[in-house]
Order: sequence, then C-alpha cells, then structure tokens
Amino acid sequence: MSTFKALLATQPDGKFVASFQQIDRSMLPSGEVLVRVVYSSLNYKDGLAVTGKPGVIRTYPVVPGVDFAGTVEESTSPHFNRGDEVVVTGCGTSEVLWGGYAQYARLDAEFIVPLPNGITLKQSMGIGTAGFTAMQSVMALEEHGLKPGGREVLVTGAAGGVGSVALAILGKLGYKAIASTGRSELSEYLMHLGASGIIDRATLTTASKRPLEAERWAAAIDNVGGDTLANLLKGVALGGSVASCGLAGGAALNTTVFPFILRGVNLLGIDSSRVPNARRREIWTRLVRDLSMDLLDGMIDVQPLSRIFELGEQILAGKIRGRTVIDVGD
Ligand code: NDP
Repeated sequence: MSTFKALLATQPDGKFVASFQQIDRSMLPSGEVLVRVVYSSLNYKDGLAVTGKPGVIRTYPVVPGVDFAGTVEESTSPHFNRGDEVVVTGCGTSEVLWGGYAQYARLDAEFIVPLPNGITLKQSMGIGTAGFTAMQSVMALEEHGLKPGGREVLVTGAAGGVGSVALAILGKLGYKAIASTGRSELSEYLMHLGASGIIDRATLTTASKRPLEAERWAAAIDNVGGDTLANLLKGVALGGSVASCGLAGGAALNTTVFPFILRGVNLLGIDSSRVPNARRREIWTRLVRDLSMDLLDGMIDVQPLSRIFELGEQILAGKIRGRTVIDVGD
C-alpha cells in the first residue's frame, strides 16, 4: 500500500487543524522500522493533542497518538524483522515524532519493544502509556522501600487509565489500595479491580490548615496533582513515597516542606516518555507478571479511530473509565 489513512495535525496560519487524510508512505519521517499499525490507544495526553490544546504537539505536521502496536513491515535494524509484533508507548510520539493514529508508523528501534509473550496486540494497547506509567510508578515506589503488608497505598484519579491499571497491579501484589475517585457510581468497578476501599476525591481537594495530618498512607500514586497532591502529602507516613505522574486536577503544587523534613517523605517524579529501551523491556516484563489480563480485558473499551475527536473531549472531561483501545484498521 503506497498510500494510507492518517490523522494529520497541521498548523496553517498558526491555527491548529487535525483531519483524516490519505497520505503517501514517502511522507513518513525516516526511521529504522516501518510498522503496520493495528491498534493505538487513548491517553489524557492524546485528548489534549487531538483537541488542539497546548503542551503536547511540538512540531507540525504530526500524526498524533502516543501509543501503537502492530506488525513490522520493513526493518533496517538488527533487532526487528518483518512480521515481528511490536509495541510503542510514549517516547516523543505525538510531540516531535509521528504517532499511532495512522495505518503506518516509522520509528527508530530504540523506541520499540517486542510484543511481550503471553499478551495480544489489543491487550498491549489496553495497557498503553497509562498502564506503562502505572507499572513504572509501582516499581519506583518499590525501589524506595514499599512492600505489601504495611499501611494503605492511595491511588488518585482511580477510575482513569493510570489509576485503573495501578489498582489492578497493587491488588494482585497484595497491597491494600485505596481508590480516590469523583465517581462513586464506579465503586464496584474499582473494588473489582483490586481496591480495598474508596474515598471521595473531595476529601483530598479540600485543604486543611494543618501542616501535617495523621500518618495514613505508606505510599501514593497521584494522577491528579494540584491541591490533591498537596493534601495527600500531609498524610504520608514516615519514610513513605509518592509517585507523581499526573495533573488531571492541576499543575500547581502549593505545599510546605514539613512532609519532607519531618517525615522523610519522598516525592518521586514519573516520566514515562524518556525511558531507555532496556528499562522499557523490564517494565513490560513486570506488566505481564503483575497485571491480571482478565482484569485488563474488563477495563478495555475498543473504539474506532473515526471517533477520536469526541473521545478526546471525553477523556479531558474525566468521563472515560479505564482504558480505551483505538482500532486503527476501522
Ligand atoms: P484519565 O483521564 O483516564 O484519568 C484521569 C482521572 O483523574 C479521571 O478518570 C478522574 O478520575 C480524575 N480527574 C479528572 N479530572 C479531575 C479533576 N479536575 N480533579 C480531580 N480528579 C480528576 O487519564 P490518564 O489515566 O491517561 O492520565 C492520568 C494523568 O496522568 C494525566 O494527568 C496524564 O497527563 C498523566 N500521565 C502522565 C504520564 C507521565 O509520564 N508522567 C503518562 C501517562 C499519563 P476519577 O473519576 O476516578 O476521580
């Protein structure tokens, strides 16, 4: 196929435009591996990109879609051969590299991992950047001393993509995970994934005047940022850690140093994008081991690429539950 369907974002006259186009394969940027894309996924960042919000796309034209999974069609890399099934999660895709909302993608081998044994292309996109970030967060917490059997672990933005996968991993590993959500109607879903309890997210957005609260959390995975992160830090127990991965509730952080200097709390930054290939493979190995594929299947909703604009609006409005896999071949 010399031409293929792609969602192309451009900026004629400085104004954002994204539209489906039939483009020639020669337009693809250079790279060692040409992949026929089967599935992509929907992350919060994809919502920002396809609706033209600032902060994601840095060069035009670009194909949005942070993640993709498919089959190698051509390769000049010794690491991949024609016919291999491969996975890409955020690595500059949809920012400076062309991403997965197209039937073909071309990237260098350093950004690509083989599809892990035991999972399907669809499941790999059910995981996608959100699930990868959840596993990366759990690993960062473990590397700072977190072990099952202690105090509770808080997950904020629990019903979203990162949150849902984080709960499923923590539950399987034997942690007492508490889900913070603004959608109480999803409590049953969250308990089924692995939550041991639910708290209303309003309890974390309402600031207390106290510099510290009673020690409750062994650790936290925070997708929300803003006041939520500032408030949860006050309740982290001695030596506990917080993986800060998101800003669904705000980017500002207005806190004091007390959690750090009186309780030795560690605030761990999580960036899923600039991760070396060897570390990516370690994270995928852990995902296959520590995430129940049955639970993952239950959180996946498959949608056609043609609906990407409305899905983008929905994820920014906090209305998407779990993970949305995008069928690029529709
Ligand atoms: P989702 O939209 O799927 O999940 C975000 C969740 O946050 C929502 O489901 C909702 O959970 C909660 N939420 C939404 N709006 C608000 C609000 N105004 N106040 C409080 N809570 C809110 O997104 P993802 O899971 O894909 O991403 C989560 C966050 O992590 C995003 O900010 C994203 O940018 C970031 N991210 C960062 C990565 C990194 O490398 N650091 C990689 C991947 C994602 P509920 O309804 O349960 O309250």
